[in-house]
Amino acid sequence: MQGSTTRAIQAIRGMHDILPERVILWQTLEDRARAVLESYGYREIRTPLVEVTDLFKRSIGEVTDIVEKEMYSFADRSGDHLSLRPEGTASCVRAAIEHGLLSTPQRLWYRGPMFRHERPQKGRYRQFHQIGVEVFGLAGPDIDQEVVLLTRRLWESLGLGSLRLEINSLGESDERAAYRRELVSYLEGNPERLDEDSRRRLRTNPLRVLDSKHPDLQAVIAGAPHITDYLGRESRAHFDRFRAGLDAAGVGYAVNPRLVRGLDYYNRTVFEWITDDLGAQGTVCAGGRYDTLVAQLGGRPTPAVGFAMGLERLVSLVEAEAPPPDQGVDAYLIAVGDGPQAQVLVVAETLRNTLPGLRLICHCGGGSFKSQFKKADRSGARYALVLGEDELARGVIGVKPLRGEGEQSEVAPDELGTFFATRA
Ligand code: ATP
Ligand code: MG
Repeated sequence: MQGSTTRAIQAIRGMHDILPERVILWQTLEDRARAVLESYGYREIRTPLVEVTDLFKRSIGEVTDIVEKEMYSFADRSGDHLSLRPEGTASCVRAAIEHGLLSTPQRLWYRGPMFRHERPQKGRYRQFHQIGVEVFGLAGPDIDQEVVLLTRRLWESLGLGSLRLEINSLGESDERAAYRRELVSYLEGNPERLDEDSRRRLRTNPLRVLDSKHPDLQAVIAGAPHITDYLGRESRAHFDRFRAGLDAAGVGYAVNPRLVRGLDYYNRTVFEWITDDLGAQGTVCAGGRYDTLVAQLGGRPTPAVGFAMGLERLVSLVEAEAPPPDQGVDAYLIAVGDGPQAQVLVVAETLRNTLPGLRLICHCGGGSFKSQFKKADRSGARYALVLGEDELARGVIGVKPLRGEGEQSEVAPDELGTFFATRA
């Protein structure tokens, strides 16, 4: 409509663009994580972002925050009930069963966006990203130890020093049942100190009360009985060996008997890496063992352990503790005159052929030397490369340092490699 201004469309609340200035942080994190994961022999798996809703109900649990109130669920055009994935484990298990991956142990990892309709705040978004690991077919505490060591190596490679490890054991289902009875009677003795959610969960899923972030509940949670007092002999031995393994590897940790995690599928080992530098949303990595989930989703009984880390929170930490140096372009190539302008993209291709690592912007759109040179300077490049009629005729390229690094010079295209190498 003439005269009216068109309102620009904005991104959905809680879902964020990652702009080029910040992508370096993400790439650093993703590249280091991939390198560490590959060095332990983990293989990447990619699954769809959308799954049938039942997959998440059957795995995460009906009476959890995620399934009760956080999923993006919808009926598609065929009337199928689908959800955007709120986490990665359920999909990995589904895929592993569906493709028969479970006959031998599997060390898998995944990355990508997850979706939860939570109240957006710092460190809590509606689209967020995780890198996660799932190991299938290994039952012992040694693999629990390995996944923790792997995360420690990643923090080291990122230069992160503020993370501390909390661990717990949730035992097996009969042990949890005995504990649940004690917990319920304790909480029932303190009804006035519970909020409405917790009073409801007392009947449906009392362990979830311990996972509540509600400040008013923290005192009653602090006085609750400890699940570690209800572990049977084997669960106790598994936990002790896990702890001994961490001790042997010099990994510091604290046992937090109230650490229960927000998803129903965990048993035995659970752990979280936490920082105090990010405010309320301090857990950057969380995981544990889930030995019954595969069978629960229709696969042959297969022990499993895994974790997921929240990349937004980790990116904030990397930015605060060990930001990587900004990687600008090396050179900005400009061309003055008709001959050079007709040739410049071809010259740029030759430079890229001879210098595969070169980060080179080739000016497009013509213009005077002055205006092109200004653009070269603004690009942040270390050098302006100049191709004029004279340079073209003599088969050289003018090199002008833009950041006060030495003199102006002329270089033959096949000598540019040595030129940049000696000035790196
Ligand atoms: P929280 O207790 O913070 O809600 P959670 O127990 O729901 O976390 P998990 O499902 O175990 O988290 O996910 C693993 C990690 O993914 C978390 O430790 C966190 O770093 C990250 N994460 C979870 N939910 C969000 C979110 N809404 N926004 C950003 N990161 C998230
Ligand atoms: Mg949550």
